[in-house]
Amino acid sequence: MSSYRIFYSPYYYADIGEGHVFPIKKFELVRDKLLAEETLSSSEIVEPQPAEIEDVLLIHTKDYVSRLRGGTLTAKEVRKLGLPWSQSLVRRSFLATSGTINAAKHALETGVSSNLAGGTHHAFPDRGEGFCVLNDVAVAVRVLQRENLAEKFLIVDCDVHQGNGTAFIFKDDQSVFTFSIHGAKNYPLFKEISNLDIELPDKTSDKEYLETLNEALPRVFLHNPDIVFYLGGADPFEQDKLGRLGLTIEGLRARDKTVLKFAKQREVPIVTVMSGGYALDINDTVEIHCNTIRAVKEIFAESQTQNAFA
Ligand SMILES: [Zn+2]
Repeated sequence: MSSYRIFYSPYYYADIGEGHVFPIKKFELVRDKLLAEETLSSSEIVEPQPAEIEDVLLIHTKDYVSRLRGGTLTAKEVRKLGLPWSQSLVRRSFLATSGTINAAKHALETGVSSNLAGGTHHAFPDRGEGFCVLNDVAVAVRVLQRENLAEKFLIVDCDVHQGNGTAFIFKDDQSVFTFSIHGAKNYPLFKEISNLDIELPDKTSDKEYLETLNEALPRVFLHNPDIVFYLGGADPFEQDKLGRLGLTIEGLRARDKTVLKFAKQREVPIVTVMSGGYALDINDTVEIHCNTIRAVKEIFAESQTQNAFA
């Protein structure tokens, strides 16, 4: 898999204070673990530059972006975001957005690529919420559209929370199919309408989840996408603080493989992004995210010399 590229920056970290429920150290921990066990080599890791303002403005309003950069969001907006504003938070948001744009372009060339962050699907054009500042996947879709790199897009959002920002952004765009499989009783309280929403009851097991996912994927791939964005949230985990579902680490690994294999068999390039994960033990969150990359490596192992589908 010599052509595999994964996008990561040490500045995916931001100072959000000690004891915050958001495990901001997970990005670095995932990178470190994958390197230490040699799932990744350092030559596969590429550090993105911050996203261009003009790219971010393809989705977000000028007013929001300028107040975000200037540190003049209202107290109410910051509360809704759930993260304290800092220059490092702004930097991290622009870097992670760029990571997803870059991963998308790379996936189109080679079949698969990843961002070791991103999937911040609760961000709306004019506001952030639920720890999501910028909607990286939405920005990446618009960049690919602008550059005529792809025409049809599929978003497979397996984070345990509904991808409400993404659903809202693309509700009138027929070229983008939004699929969200999430906890019925979970945040956000008021859900938007995706092209396909599947709401799962509390304590949903591996078996129930995987059966439901396997049933849904053929339907959503009928959209015939040129590229798939996969949000492999770690938070459907049974020991997640914000999860409510009952999936095991093995079950989540099977979920990743299911989605990745589905794309590969249909020769559709796929981008993986991380999304949420708030396990009681951060090591579990890290392990679940690492499994996504291990699954990429395993599934795309032989085929990725130059082009996975050549
Ligand atoms: Zn989530």
